[in-house]
Amino acid sequence: MQEEKQHVIPSTMNRNGDQQVVIIGGGPAGLTAAYELITRHNIRPVVFEKLDKVGGIARTENYKGYYFDMGGHRFFTKSKEVQRFWKEVMGDDFLRRPRLSRIFYNDKFFHYPLKPFNALMGLGLYESVLIMASYIRWQIFPYRQEETFEQWVTNRFGKRLFLTFFKTYTEKVWGISTSELKAEWAAQRIKNLSLKSAIVSMFVKPNTKITTLIEEFDYPRRGPGMMWNAVKEAVERRGGSVQLNSDVVGIHRQGNRITAVEVACNGYRQVVPGDSFISSMPVTEFIRYLDPPPPKPVLDAAHRLKYRDFLTVCLVVNKKELFPDNWIYIHDPRVKVGRIQNFKNWSPEMVPDQSKTSLGLEYFCNEGDELWTMADEDLIELGKQEIERIGLAKYEDVEDGSVFRVPKSYPVYDSEYKEHLETIKEYLATLENFQTIGRNGLHRYNNQDHAMLTGMLAVRNLMLGESNNLWVVNAEQEYHEEIAEDVEADPEVVTEVVKEALAHIFTRLDPLAFGLALGLILGLAVFAATALLLLRGGPVVGPHLQLLSNFFIGYSVTWPGALIGLLYGVVVGFVFGGLFAYLRNTAMFLHMAYIQRRSELNLLRSLFDYI
Ligand SMILES: Cc1cc2nc3c(=O)[nH]c(=O)nc-3n(C[C@H](O)[C@H](O)[C@H](O)COP(=O)(O)OP(=O)(O)OC[C@H]3O[C@@H](n4cnc5c(N)ncnc54)[C@H](O)[C@@H]3O)c2cc1C
Repeated sequence: MQEEKQHVIPSTMNRNGDQQVVIIGGGPAGLTAAYELITRHNIRPVVFEKLDKVGGIARTENYKGYYFDMGGHRFFTKSKEVQRFWKEVMGDDFLRRPRLSRIFYNDKFFHYPLKPFNALMGLGLYESVLIMASYIRWQIFPYRQEETFEQWVTNRFGKRLFLTFFKTYTEKVWGISTSELKAEWAAQRIKNLSLKSAIVSMFVKPNTKITTLIEEFDYPRRGPGMMWNAVKEAVERRGGSVQLNSDVVGIHRQGNRITAVEVACNGYRQVVPGDSFISSMPVTEFIRYLDPPPPKPVLDAAHRLKYRDFLTVCLVVNKKELFPDNWIYIHDPRVKVGRIQNFKNWSPEMVPDQSKTSLGLEYFCNEGDELWTMADEDLIELGKQEIERIGLAKYEDVEDGSVFRVPKSYPVYDSEYKEHLETIKEYLATLENFQTIGRNGLHRYNNQDHAMLTGMLAVRNLMLGESNNLWVVNAEQEYHEEIAEDVEADPEVVTEVVKEALAHIFTRLDPLAFGLALGLILGLAVFAATALLLLRGGPVVGPHLQLLSNFFIGYSVTWPGALIGLLYGVVVGFVFGGLFAYLRNTAMFLHMAYIQRRSELNLLRSLFDYI
């Protein structure tokens, strides 16, 4: 590698009298911010991207004319704002594609998201009976504590189904045993979503448009990179600058202001001043690059946030067709590969020669571990062997291959990350002219659309003086009104409103208060009825009411009887009222728990779609 020259050359940027906005990272978030700045506010930003192409994790690599997506990037969103952006940029190059994905386990394919009937048929009668028995056993005697992923899923599906469909794939993705993996990463998302969708589904008709979008999705003809290249060109056409191979390696700070970034490019370092800075680089690196550094607890917090990485072994197979899926989850423990993409089924144009097929074999790993550091030829060899072992293609049909590594592809949600992120957030809030955006900028499990929304909102904060909280995009849906309006039919968005309504409808009845109130009403009613009859007088006073004495021993239609009736009424009303309130609360709780559990199961069926 070429030795880096250390001398600093001043920025040569033409400032045009504009405020100079510096954007770090040419992924979806950074490029969206650049596009919005230039198209809506006529501000020409400069974007620094350390790789030789834009798109970040959503880039498309090209190997001998074959296009390889880093993973498989479905374009679907609930936000009209993002949809508009995509259409504006891609126009007719956006294809609507059907989705087919399956699990490969025990030499069989199972539909994914899991369909109970399909799963049971595939497993056979004997195994299905064992699974049902295990399900019932775990419903009756669940784990008392749900600390680990294993306990959490077992309590919902039973141990046997957990072992069949959840254990191996999850362990491949996270690299640790499911008995060590905290329940949090799945539980957090599933719990929130399921409670919300359960509640909302009681009030709102399901959003069929969203459902169909998950069954099918949009995809640029030549992969997601095509979108991000088009955005780069649009920015440059209007006078903005997107500089590739430009690694931001230093952040200059004066008090609470960022003054410049230091960019390493072609062996030189350039100091680029700016008025405002928007960064989509990993927030941990941003903190570490600050000069002068932030307080020690902030640096420590940045050191403690973790990531999971992955690499993709891309193979060219001399076969016209291999399997119909867009991707297949490989649960088979005999092989290390976790997921296989079949790019031709994403878009025919991903493959230059239609008599061939190109595959992306995804291996989840940690930067620096055995897989990550393995030579490319060895990884291709491993890929060829594994694809043959699971029977999806023949070893000798694989004619070429290439390897791409994607560091920091998954921000890790472990038991400590929230605390560390909070420390970082508090510190970053003190920087006046800086905003962090995107997936790793916010250490959030964001898809492209949410990463883009953070870019859009950062621009609004900067240009319109709004104060959108970028940390809650995707978490709380507290976007700016205009963006929220876009998704008004989405159950998740109306949740807050519905929750409030629910708080009134399903208010817990206080048994003591309700009993007392009912007791007083009943007691006063008996007293008032008795008193009324006594005041009316007559030869026989209140013969019908007198019948009450059959239940209220000692009661009579007399003034002392009225007091006894009052007392009886209070006691009986109190007992029945309290009991009713208690039973009603229990029934309500069980009903809510039932619908939450039902929608948890629904979401669990498609858990791996969130990875
Ligand atoms: C396997 C996988 C599958 C996915 N599938 C989907 C999907 O189906 N649909 C979907 O919408 N999303 C999907 N995503 C998520 C999607 O990839 C991300 O949401 C999106 O790429 C985030 O964009 P970003 O700009 O925030 O971050 P990134 O894509 O990480 O972009 C950040 C950019 O900053 C650059 N950078 C970093 N440090 C520096 C530096 N010091 N100096 C200069 N540049 C720097 C990086 O090179 C990168 O280009 C998937 C992700 C993975 C890992």
